[in-house]
Amino acid sequence: MPDAPLTPVDVLVLGGGAAGLSAALSLGRSRRTVRVLDAGEPRNATSPHAHNLLTHDGTPPSALLAAGRDEVARYGVEVVTARAVAAQAVDVPSDAGRDGAGSDGAGWAGAGSSGATHEPTFAVRTADGRTHHARRLVVATGMRDVLPDVPGLRERWGRDVLHCPYCHGWEVRDRRLAVLATGPRAVHAALLVRQLSADVTLLTHDAFAPDAEQRADLAARGVRVVPGRVTAVRVEEDALTGIVPADGDVVPCDAVFVGTRAVLDDAVVDGLGLQTTALDFLGEDVGRAVAVDATGATSVPGVWAAGNVTGPQHALAASIAAGSLAGAHVNASLVTADVAAARAARVTTRP
Ligand SMILES: Cc1cc2nc3c(=O)[nH]c(=O)nc-3n(C[C@H](O)[C@H](O)[C@H](O)COP(=O)(O)OP(=O)(O)OC[C@H]3O[C@@H](n4cnc5c(N)ncnc54)[C@H](O)[C@@H]3O)c2cc1C
Repeated sequence: MPDAPLTPVDVLVLGGGAAGLSAALSLGRSRRTVRVLDAGEPRNATSPHAHNLLTHDGTPPSALLAAGRDEVARYGVEVVTARAVAAQAVDVPSDAGRDGAGSDGAGWAGAGSSGATHEPTFAVRTADGRTHHARRLVVATGMRDVLPDVPGLRERWGRDVLHCPYCHGWEVRDRRLAVLATGPRAVHAALLVRQLSADVTLLTHDAFAPDAEQRADLAARGVRVVPGRVTAVRVEEDALTGIVPADGDVVPCDAVFVGTRAVLDDAVVDGLGLQTTALDFLGEDVGRAVAVDATGATSVPGVWAAGNVTGPQHALAASIAAGSLAGAHVNASLVTADVAAARAARVTTRP
């Protein structure tokens, strides 16, 4: 038997990580009907602990998300484990049957009433074949990190193969640290990592060659530079112990920092036609991000975005802040639409 049609909601949040849950919290507390669709693969899943998050420093990522889900549930937000595989704007008058704050949203999708103000309405299909409808979308699908193609690197990701000195640098302070280059931004990374330890090696991995200025900077801070490709990581007793270059000796190290390329969920981002920006970091192409204004609004009316889908640099605190702000602005846009719809209803019902 086919599933019963799903009740349309005010807002669908695509992605239930830090940014999505934070947006859902703002919206749930504003008495909006909210459904979060979450595929359950947050970017930091392999990390044992999240750091640099005030009042929650050192908490496991899974515990943060469990607490977030509990919090949004208090305000009636539904969190559904599902992957959105297609999303699009649909042309449906969307004000019939709503009564403002606290409405359950029932009756508006497909209402087709005369005199209704047109506002954006969206349909999102999930991998299980179901279709969800909403008046607004928050895209918080995060990003996927593409690592350099070095055997063994991915398996250590989030443990001793690290992406960010602010998130995990303190934990490896004074250890033997390496930076695996993907391009020129590695010089900046090596100098940041040097703040944490006096034992830092930059492996160029044939991704770039430091110029004279960069070499002088690195030498001044005592950062060793090892040219040539890296072919493997050395792991002993489930811990990184070295990096293996194609030529030369193994570089002993306890942790390696590596830049990644940001890959977005094309089905959602491109399906909705969201404008994206190519990301250049210190002369290196590092992927793309959804373009948003200061409120998180995207190029498509009715769609907001927050968190890593708008840029890989947003750590948890920034993603939570962006989600919260986007949620508030989505609610404000619904308030505006509700006022317009209420005024239109008064005009059409006047004798
Ligand atoms: C290894 C690692 C460790 C990190 N450690 C820290 C740290 O210690 N401190 C810190 O501040 N930051 C840390 N970060 C950064 C942190 O992971 C991000 O700031 C945070 O995950 C961004 O939240 P987000 O909600 O934008 O994305 P995510 O947390 O990645 O959440 C996105 C969610 O959307 C889901 N999704 C994707 N596509 C779809 C779809 N089509 N339909 C439905 N759901 C979908 C995903 O499965 C995921 O659950 C770390 C990052 C990495 C890579």
